[in-house]
Amino acid sequence: MNVNEATSHFTKRPVWAQIDLTAAAENMQRIRKHVGNTVSVCAVVKGNAYGHGAVEMAGVFLDNGADRLAVACLDEAIELRQHGITASLLVLGHTDGRRASDIIQYDIETTVFCYEDAKHLSEAAEKAGTSVRIHFAADTGMGRIGYQACEESIREIKKISRLPFVAAEGFFTHFCVSDIKDKTFTQEQFRRFSWFRRRLEEEHIPARHFHCCGSAGVLAYPEFYCDMVRPGIIQYGCDPSSEVTTEGYGLQSVMSLRCCITHVKMIEKGSTVSYGRRFTAPKPTKIATLPVGYADGYPRRLSNQTEILVHGRRVPQVGLICMDQCMIDVTEIPDVCIGDEAVLFGKQENEVISVAELADKTGTIVHEILCNINRRVPRVYIKDGQVVKRVEYLLNKH
Ligand SMILES: *Cc1c(COP(=O)(O)O)cnc(C)c1O
Repeated sequence: MNVNEATSHFTKRPVWAQIDLTAAAENMQRIRKHVGNTVSVCAVVKGNAYGHGAVEMAGVFLDNGADRLAVACLDEAIELRQHGITASLLVLGHTDGRRASDIIQYDIETTVFCYEDAKHLSEAAEKAGTSVRIHFAADTGMGRIGYQACEESIREIKKISRLPFVAAEGFFTHFCVSDIKDKTFTQEQFRRFSWFRRRLEEEHIPARHFHCCGSAGVLAYPEFYCDMVRPGIIQYGCDPSSEVTTEGYGLQSVMSLRCCITHVKMIEKGSTVSYGRRFTAPKPTKIATLPVGYADGYPRRLSNQTEILVHGRRVPQVGLICMDQCMIDVTEIPDVCIGDEAVLFGKQENEVISVAELADKTGTIVHEILCNINRRVPRVYIKDGQVVKRVEYLLNKH
């Protein structure tokens, strides 16, 4: 992959998120192998597949071992349907029952934790001559959505399960500290989940699938898989946290963020760079400008604290990162030219800047860095080292 391929010989914006479809495919094959054939894999592609492009990732994951998909909100599910994805599709967040016509039209499974929503769904489904598949959410300690483990919850779940045109496809919960070493609270959450399972059985309330493990659960809690798991971040080759990592699993990072240098110049000792004059050249300094900034999702918090790869070597980013541009100090790199590739995260020759490194420096998690790479950044999809697709969100060519 060179810059000419990535930018179609500079006829496209020279900033791109490079998405390695081969890596994504192999990651899913490894996840599938790891969880075994008795467990369904529900690939989480919310947030535009953590910035990677939901439509493209959904296809790759389904072709390489995923059984079904999950997103966060109904519109994300509709986007996938409108692009021809026919697999089972679960919306993990809240969907108001009054959105029943979209739910029915696009055949989407929704998460339910309120009788009113379920009632709307059942009534609309009856009119449409169909039924709606739902997953009950249980709040076992996350404190976000779902039924708490008590008899009142069981009564309402029973009432919903008696509605004639909704069918319980699943029952799930979500762990809040499965990405730390201490297992105490996750075990407590699973204990509450198991209480639910037992009570549902006693009340003869059926549910086809039980699921609670996200990525960290997939890595650290095989005993809690039940019959389905919901991997997210590990599909994209990143660690859930520094305590629960993918080390030894052979997963590869899928996205890298790249651009081409737009300007190179020498500045004198004492000259300053960017807004606020927060970098002063300590000696004559060679500055290169990159056409990427925080409006692309490259965090301003990284200003003056991060490095960028040029010619396979780390160079310091200098001065405040602007909305659309930033500068780097390339004094130490010979022969830097306009058009040369700079890597904001990812691999270049033998050097790597990981998403985790940037997340640490900005006090956030890898998920947020990836999701924030936004629609102004073209996605360049590569397979076995060749460009196979380009998605230009702004130019509406996807
Ligand atoms: C986002 C999400 C996941 C996937 O999370 P990762 O940590 O990225 O694996 C799984 N389940 C639910 C309910 C989620 O909201």
